[in-house]
Amino acid sequence: MRAVKFYGKNRLKLENIPTPTVNDDEVLVKVKKVAITQLLAKEYFYGPYIMKNSIPIIPGHSFGGVVVKTGKNVEKSLIGKWVSVLPLRYCGKCYYCKSGLENLCENLKYYGLIGLDGGLSEYVSVKKGNIFLINKNDIDKITFIEPFLIGINILEESIAKIKTKFPNKNSFNILILGVGSIGLSLALVWSILRKEDNIFINDLFLSRLEILKNTFDKYKLYNNIHPIEKEYIKKDFFDIVIDTAGFEALALEPAILEGFKYTIRGGCLVSVGLYYNKIGFNHLEAVLKNVNIITTKFYRKKSIEKLNTILNDIKFNFSRFIHNISIAEVLENGFYKVQVDKEDFIRLEVKC
Ligand SMILES: [Zn+2]
Repeated sequence: MRAVKFYGKNRLKLENIPTPTVNDDEVLVKVKKVAITQLLAKEYFYGPYIMKNSIPIIPGHSFGGVVVKTGKNVEKSLIGKWVSVLPLRYCGKCYYCKSGLENLCENLKYYGLIGLDGGLSEYVSVKKGNIFLINKNDIDKITFIEPFLIGINILEESIAKIKTKFPNKNSFNILILGVGSIGLSLALVWSILRKEDNIFINDLFLSRLEILKNTFDKYKLYNNIHPIEKEYIKKDFFDIVIDTAGFEALALEPAILEGFKYTIRGGCLVSVGLYYNKIGFNHLEAVLKNVNIITTKFYRKKSIEKLNTILNDIKFNFSRFIHNISIAEVLENGFYKVQVDKEDFIRLEVKC
């Protein structure tokens, strides 16, 4: 089968390799869609850091397709079903797993990122416990399942933190910086799970906000989300500010430092987007403002329980957010496109 392999900084190769074998508790997925994510682009241009001990690896951690073969212990009825792959693999036995923190597992693996091959190939064999059944109406969201899970985890960790400071406050002002697939998914997840909050979204590219404006106007489902332009954001206004942008080559200032200014005293600044460079942080300012700076990582087992609620509540088609490219383009300039040339889409996908 054909597969793209990542060998390290600026090194991708298209190879012909054997189709993976299917163990007793696995299924073989014929990949139909895989996302070229910001994270992959950062690893490619500035890393590898997260993938360092896993190379060579077939990248692609947000993907899905159709089950074409099942292992001995897996029901045959899954054949022909559309699935999205839940990339997190955890041991279930270590201290972290037993504490419900599977995202910090001592033996953590992640399809297409850490220790396991991912979606930039024709076929992937995946543990049965790592597939999520997708019905026909949701095929357009297949590569958004992972960002939805990450969004659920961000929401739960942020709310838990802010509630320790403001236990009696019931409605919060939320600012999401960066509207890539994580920012968008987080906004949708938040608007569904916490209707009482006010959500504001900001992005460097007005064209990306335009894509959202049309969606939200048309469906009126999410009119508590206000895509806003930078100059209108009030400083010291937001209870929770979430930086999903991370290192952005075109930004004047790291989003996390900008986010700090907009956070109220005692508020919560959540770092989700990644930086591959050092950031100068004014420690004294942070102490005096008593901002809680928290980080989040991947998602947890309990995040999966909320997925169906999210999917049931999102009625519109996701194709307007997606730009499709071919494998050949990925090898030529795909990672460049997602890193720099990303004004007109939110998600870059390879249709296989
Ligand atoms: Zn574990």
